[in-house]
Amino acid sequence: MIPLSLQIAAEPATPFVTRLRLRPNDHTGPNDHIGETDHTGEADALFVEDDDGGTLFAGREGLISIDGFAGHQLSGDVLLVDPGAGRAERLLRSGSAHNTLLVTERCDQLCVMCSQPPKKTHIDRFDHFEKACMLAEPGSVIGITGGEPTLYKPRLLDLIEAVLTERADLEFHVLTNGQHFDLADVPRLRAPLYRRVSWGIPLYSHVPATHDFIVGKQGAFDRLHDSFSALMQAGARIELRTVLTSTNLHDLPALSHYVAARLRFVESWSVMQLENIGFAKNRWSDLFVDHAADFTPISRAIDTSLLHGIAIRLFNFPRCTVPRAYWALAPASISDWKRKYPPPCRDCRERDLCSGFFEWHPDEQAGVRVTPL
Ligand code: SF4
Repeated sequence: MIPLSLQIAAEPATPFVTRLRLRPNDHTGPNDHIGETDHTGEADALFVEDDDGGTLFAGREGLISIDGFAGHQLSGDVLLVDPGAGRAERLLRSGSAHNTLLVTERCDQLCVMCSQPPKKTHIDRFDHFEKACMLAEPGSVIGITGGEPTLYKPRLLDLIEAVLTERADLEFHVLTNGQHFDLADVPRLRAPLYRRVSWGIPLYSHVPATHDFIVGKQGAFDRLHDSFSALMQAGARIELRTVLTSTNLHDLPALSHYVAARLRFVESWSVMQLENIGFAKNRWSDLFVDHAADFTPISRAIDTSLLHGIAIRLFNFPRCTVPRAYWALAPASISDWKRKYPPPCRDCRERDLCSGFFEWHPDEQAGVRVTPL
């Protein structure tokens, strides 16, 4: 797994955001990104030297010593450095298409399979995130997740607008439970810069009681549809998301008709396999459905969606576990830092296009149905 948290020592007393850079003549390794794209800004920390234990950078905030890495391995990364805690978060990793900012751990739902179980406390780091986004690599799509980001909707929208106004090359993808949009948001969300924002919103069933049961909140289905109404009027870009569990698997064909009939304005629909982490870990045997054993509900939903022009995709489905006719709908969706491939995948021709498995997927299951292509 790619580490997102670094052990550091740094001089200032308070947390700060910085981007690590090599200077044009700092050729320290094979993968360096030596000042190749843009100029060094005042928020940058420049490479000083590597030693046996790690690497040293120096910036406006003073020296930053980082354990266990060479300078070229971190060049271009945007860090939130917390000297008091002796750690730094790699908020934006150079060259990664999977950078996501966790803006809060609070949530007002309690999904049965939540991969990031919510906490009661919130630490406001929006100012740090805004600074980090300003330092993002050109053309980045930055993910925002939680918890539930729209619990802090004014702060969230302020961040989005500040960044996208300054950086015309960036986009955001926001994961939200869709419980907090209303008609008062429509004028704001109609602004042209929101064409560079997509909202990933879950809908688990066309049956209100089933959706409410899965998200652990009575009335969530109805409130979600109020949000859909506002977002539709704003012309928002929506990625509908449905995680498969034993509770909703057999609703999928009917849900596809529901999406085609009622939610045609969505940009895409992602049907997602479960993660063995968070709440799902202890409920795995109850919740997980082996799609390779019976793909019928999924194929029926796909066929209906395609027939009605809904762009459907399968996330977290290894290609060799999906009928060949649907391979093209199963991209390499799992973020690079939490993806693994069992040993037989070494010889697979489709590996670069395949999601593989979550790092925490049970090894005994990951290997079972893998058939190198
Ligand atoms: S063998 Fe491995 S890499 Fe190939 S399709 Fe299956 S899971 Fe993916």
